[in-house]
Amino acid sequence: MTTSVPAGADGTPDVRSPDVRVPDVPVAVVGWRTWRVGRRAQQRHELFSPLTGTPWPPGRPMLADCASPRHAPPGDACGCGLYAVADPGDLGWSPSDHEVLGVVSLWGEVVEGTRGWRAAQGYPRFLLTGPGISGEQRAGLTRRLGVPVYGSELPPRELAAFLAADPATADALRHGSDSAVADLLADRLPDWARRGHETRSRAAAEAARRRNQAERRAATWRTALVAWLLGVQPVALAAIAGWAVAGGVLTTPWLGVPLLVALAVLVMVSARAGLRRRTTGRRPRAVVGGRSKP
Ligand SMILES: [Zn+2]
Repeated sequence: MTTSVPAGADGTPDVRSPDVRVPDVPVAVVGWRTWRVGRRAQQRHELFSPLTGTPWPPGRPMLADCASPRHAPPGDACGCGLYAVADPGDLGWSPSDHEVLGVVSLWGEVVEGTRGWRAAQGYPRFLLTGPGISGEQRAGLTRRLGVPVYGSELPPRELAAFLAADPATADALRHGSDSAVADLLADRLPDWARRGHETRSRAAAEAARRRNQAERRAATWRTALVAWLLGVQPVALAAIAGWAVAGGVLTTPWLGVPLLVALAVLVMVSARAGLRRRTTGRRPRAVVGGRSKP
């Protein structure tokens, strides 16, 4: 569906920075999208489309571009146009920590899809950045673009996940005024950061537990192997049995049964070997079987 949204429909100038006058844009179509902040020193305060790398101009509308000369973007049967989605959970992410999340105003020709929109023109309303973007960069972006740039301890993709899990907040942010957005973020960001850290701490603890377990298992097998090679079979058997019990191996039939059989064989072999040693000693106490030489 293509609709035409006139620029400046609400008629109010939208000035949010003393340096830059943000273009007058309607609040008709607003969606979530991602950008990338420049990596090079001279581009640290510039905003780029994450896939095409096209810079978004400060202080004037970003205009969609298309390689086809046959239509103006966004073409109905084409993929061109400036993208935005309604649900932050629909956003795609690259591993770059230069990516930022934000809300964009779209106007001009707008094609509505199942998850969002493609439009002819756009300008960011506000940006949410993660720990990869410094305070100095945020200030530079605000000065340059004239829109609020918020910092968070969480990477943008985690922020997007929290927003996707809380559609009421996501929609309130998408449609809210600057002050409403600022208030809402001041309320939500600390809680999301705390929960994000908790999740990460739990994941780190679990990873450490698994690492320890693997190290203990390796140490057990080393002990068992060395003990066996040195001829101290009971120590080797005890090490293997200890590992099997601690690792829950004995409760796993396909591992436990062969292991029990192997242990039984080892015990028998060990007993016979021990017997032989004892019976070949200076003062044999017992002789069982016919192969000892008292
Ligand atoms: Zn096109």
